[in-house]
Amino acid sequence: MLLAASCAQATVIRVGILRGAPSAAVSGVGLRASAGGRHIAVPVSFTVSAKGNSLVVGGKVCDSPLILTAVAPIRCGKAAYEGELVVRAHSGRITVVNKLDMEKYLRGVLGIEISPVWALEVLKAQAVISRTYALSQIGRHSGEGFDVCDTDHCQVYRGTNVHGQMTDQAVIQTRGQVVTYRGALARTFFSSDCGGATSDIRDVWGRPEPYLVVRREPYPSQSPKAEWEATLTASEIQAALAKKGKSVGVLRQISIVQRDAAGRPTLLRFTGSAGTATLTSAEFRMALGAKKVRSTFFEFSRGGVPAPASAPSYAPPRRTVQKSTSGAPLNEEEKLQLKALIAQKKFSVDERLDMLMYPDRERFYLNKALGLKNDAPGAELAPPPPQEAERTAQPAANAGISSVQVAGSVTLYGRGWGHGVGLSQWGAKAMADHGWSAEKILNFYYPGTVIQRR
Ligand SMILES: [Zn+2]
Repeated sequence: MLLAASCAQATVIRVGILRGAPSAAVSGVGLRASAGGRHIAVPVSFTVSAKGNSLVVGGKVCDSPLILTAVAPIRCGKAAYEGELVVRAHSGRITVVNKLDMEKYLRGVLGIEISPVWALEVLKAQAVISRTYALSQIGRHSGEGFDVCDTDHCQVYRGTNVHGQMTDQAVIQTRGQVVTYRGALARTFFSSDCGGATSDIRDVWGRPEPYLVVRREPYPSQSPKAEWEATLTASEIQAALAKKGKSVGVLRQISIVQRDAAGRPTLLRFTGSAGTATLTSAEFRMALGAKKVRSTFFEFSRGGVPAPASAPSYAPPRRTVQKSTSGAPLNEEEKLQLKALIAQKKFSVDERLDMLMYPDRERFYLNKALGLKNDAPGAELAPPPPQEAERTAQPAANAGISSVQVAGSVTLYGRGWGHGVGLSQWGAKAMADHGWSAEKILNFYYPGTVIQRR
């Protein structure tokens, strides 16, 4: 058995900690420095800046790059870093890169990405997904001379400032462990709080993954911000729609036309004085602002927000619009007729979506396309009366109302925070508090994946 061959090789990661800055204050005990490949003497504390493509170190011009190592972490700006600091000059600006071992890097990520006082098993789960994510991001910023940046564009990293006993332990105890799917690194997305059920990645970013699907959590979130409300003005929404090239004039109504298996709206229709438009709820959230619309798990009425833990078998939404006799199912011949009309593009995208969601509306559309009279013309599509929006105390097992009239503004009642794809930190915390291991938590949020050592 070739044990040596299976030993994990130390992975080095280059983290961009300053980009295009005019200068940086650096200090460290026992600093060793080289500039342009030659050893130079530097004081314990100095400022480095750039003059064209050369560096100015403590007032002296020297060649780029400046490479710094020390026996203790090196301070640069507000944080201190293990490993090596590499400072490069470019057109009068400097870039500082922290080059260090992956496991040390993770200690500077974990302390800021998750609460360090949570149970060890949830910290370990986060360590494994942060490692998996970091490995898949290697080279993302190669054009700028490093692998990952230190913001949430990649992962937030604050060096040794955020080291902690428990988060360090979580990294040490999961050393080298990553989440894989069919032998490749899995896409380990995570969010703060999925609101009781995770999102299918397909509904958020389009590209599906078999292990990033809707999962209902077994325990309620203990997040103090589990529920939220957001009041949006009609003009705000109109501006967001216009920004997406989907102006509808004066906004009159918003309808939820599609939901995922947990009841989370995934597709919305906007009806206005100048037409209709559809947006995925993920697009809608980003267009209005991810901090304002904290998640896509929202309803138009307070009572419509389901409590996932008390309603594990969350039912698909009820239609709130009255059925008319036009809703009788189509016979085989009529079905073929409708299919042919669809192929002839006789219906708009919205109409086809509507039929897909509500098959009992097929007859209405068929009659309309054939020029036949509907029993109650338009009844199927009539917007609900305005007071629908004020309805409260909907049973938890039902989704809230599917449409709302917009009179000046609309209030969303939501739960969770973030895109909801993959691990939910607050959900994982609840599992760890109930005795779940990191592995069990990861298997829940990324079903079908395997934890491997790399
Ligand atoms: Zn980045």
